[in-house]
Amino acid sequence: MGTGISLNNLEITVLKGVGARLSETLQKLGINTVQDLLFHLPIRYLDRTRITAIRDLRTNTSVVIQGRVLSSQVNFGRRRSLAVTLEDATGSTCLRFYHFNAAQKNNFEEGRQVRCYGDPRLGVKGIEFYHPEYEFIDSASQAPVEQSLTPVYGLTEGLSQSRLRKLTEQAVEILDSHSPDELLSESVNAHFGVKSLSDALRFLHFPPPDAPVEEILNDQHPSQQRLAFEELIAHFMVRQQLRLQMHKNRSAPIQPHKSQADKLLASLPFSLTSAQTRVIEEIRGDLAKGLPMLRMLQGDVGSGKTLVAALATVDVASAGYQVAIVAPTEILAEQHFHNFSGWLDPLGIQVTWLVGKLKASERKTALAELASGAAQVVIGTHALFQEDVLFKNLGLSIIDEQHRFGVDQRLSLRKRTSDGLVPHQLVMTATPIPRTLAMTAYSELDYSVIDELPPGRTAIQTALVKQVRRPTLIERVKLACGEGAQVYWVCPLVEESETLSVANAEETFTDLQSQLGSVSIGLIHGRLKSQHKEEIMAAFKAGEIQLLVATTVIEVGVDVPNASLMIIENPERLGLAQLHQLRGRVGRGSVASHCVLLFGDKLSHQGKERLQVMRETNDGFVIAERDLQLRGPGELLGTRQAGDMSYRIADVQNHAHLLPLVHETGRQLMASDSPVTEKLIQRWIGDKKHYANA
Ligand code: ADP
Ligand code: MG
Repeated sequence: MGTGISLNNLEITVLKGVGARLSETLQKLGINTVQDLLFHLPIRYLDRTRITAIRDLRTNTSVVIQGRVLSSQVNFGRRRSLAVTLEDATGSTCLRFYHFNAAQKNNFEEGRQVRCYGDPRLGVKGIEFYHPEYEFIDSASQAPVEQSLTPVYGLTEGLSQSRLRKLTEQAVEILDSHSPDELLSESVNAHFGVKSLSDALRFLHFPPPDAPVEEILNDQHPSQQRLAFEELIAHFMVRQQLRLQMHKNRSAPIQPHKSQADKLLASLPFSLTSAQTRVIEEIRGDLAKGLPMLRMLQGDVGSGKTLVAALATVDVASAGYQVAIVAPTEILAEQHFHNFSGWLDPLGIQVTWLVGKLKASERKTALAELASGAAQVVIGTHALFQEDVLFKNLGLSIIDEQHRFGVDQRLSLRKRTSDGLVPHQLVMTATPIPRTLAMTAYSELDYSVIDELPPGRTAIQTALVKQVRRPTLIERVKLACGEGAQVYWVCPLVEESETLSVANAEETFTDLQSQLGSVSIGLIHGRLKSQHKEEIMAAFKAGEIQLLVATTVIEVGVDVPNASLMIIENPERLGLAQLHQLRGRVGRGSVASHCVLLFGDKLSHQGKERLQVMRETNDGFVIAERDLQLRGPGELLGTRQAGDMSYRIADVQNHAHLLPLVHETGRQLMASDSPVTEKLIQRWIGDKKHYANA
């Protein structure tokens, strides 16, 4: 199809300078052939084609500046640093080095011209550059800037940017005589306005001087779109293969058990929302088919997913099959255990639980009950994934807050079959996944949304308050507790250290105790023994504790309807989606609820603007979209799952508009059963395909 000889199977060792050692290094990047190297695309570009005026510097965009050295001095603060002040016609800025030697310091003589490349950041004294790359421009003040964008590649130990770039140069030369196979139909190149795959690759590795910079930096160039399209198809097909593979299995066909369900519903003080009703019907449709259900249930915090899960559980248990429900924390597992027992015991369905902290004898009993089928429903944590957990006839597994688990974990419960039947699976998440992200990260799953909150909830009012106003806030807490309200005081990670954050929570606890003598205060964090945690949660639920100081252990699931005020310290350290999760712990009853984001006095304007989103909306989907824009998919998916879908060139947001065509093309290719599917997957995903087979 392509012109010239196929690139296929041209070993990387044909390149000059690639011996055994280097090829081993390249292998770590999944590069075995020249083609692999060509598809190892730049992860980003640096724009060194123009010089930015110091006055126009903005944070987080990589730039080139040029100016003369105004001063250079060593500061002996908390950490010794070299600070060089650089000035151009429009203003001045600071280059800061924490590691430097005498020669380096002496080079920054007053008056010398310096060109500096880097990402400006907000420092103590305004915008600064930390450890920028730089060079002295002594000879000609008009020294030319780079002619084209500078690609930046993903590296591995023992390989430098420039080394990789040299190799890529050789590989691109080979493109003149060899071509990668055009795996997609010819119309695709035309659709995107590129001549050939070779052309697109050449362009991306070495954008020509006249290339449209903005377009490339925004991932919108035709070459980028063409390749992203192909990559997204490859990922989509892997997930579809996973789906097909799972649908080769059979599952127990489960009919809804009307009378049991009605009995449960009749015992509730409320009726289902129409969204809950619709979703349970979608689930019943799946369960009845005899094919494994693979469904993701999304719903904002407090939308009532647990009850939907319970109704599905009733159907499956009443049909004589077992149900396993997995929660990410013991607190949540405990809470589910209580809820499910309360709902299902009256129906004669036996519920047990399995968590890490069970005594050996308790665990043994639980395992025996599961193996014999005496226990029809089990609720647990990761402990349920262990090999020695055997079921008599597991019919359904439900994973709550699924983003806390990896794909492989999610799938491990699938293996526990009886009579060759595979359990149905329902995964639930309260972190709303924007539609575009769901279309990529979870395209193998069907998708249900509870897009309605139970009636009578009053919207949570969120306020931003500065630390200096802490005393006033404490007064307000006192008042609220006096009126019978219950309050959460959340102290998130202070640094990436559990120990420090616990210390911080303890300190806050002591401090609040000394200031709020009349209020009963509890403290809960991840370091406490499970039993202790439970006692505290039970006391809070019972209203014996009025103010609960907590780390983010209470983030997911915890349901205490009487709690109506939450204070979150250092909210600037958390993602918006996570703040939304936390905030969802209040506003669960009918009283008006409030959330106070107690931010640090040094918070930047941008940081504050970010937090404003929390004030403006209670809609988890809007917040998730913003988080996706601001922090990328890692935050929303959890690092493990984000790692499973790291792209070479595609960008979930910037290429969202391609997704409908991606799905259509991917489906057609798979339906035609052509060998192209495997080739595309090999090209883009290669050995990382493991997650499809998990
Ligand atoms: P989430 O979707 O965040 O897991 P939960 O299932 O914990 O939410 O439900 C939150 C609260 O709403 C619980 O106290 C639950 O009993 C209650 N609830 C669920 N469905 C309804 C409904 N239809 N009407 C009123 N309250 C409901
Ligand atoms: Mg929940």
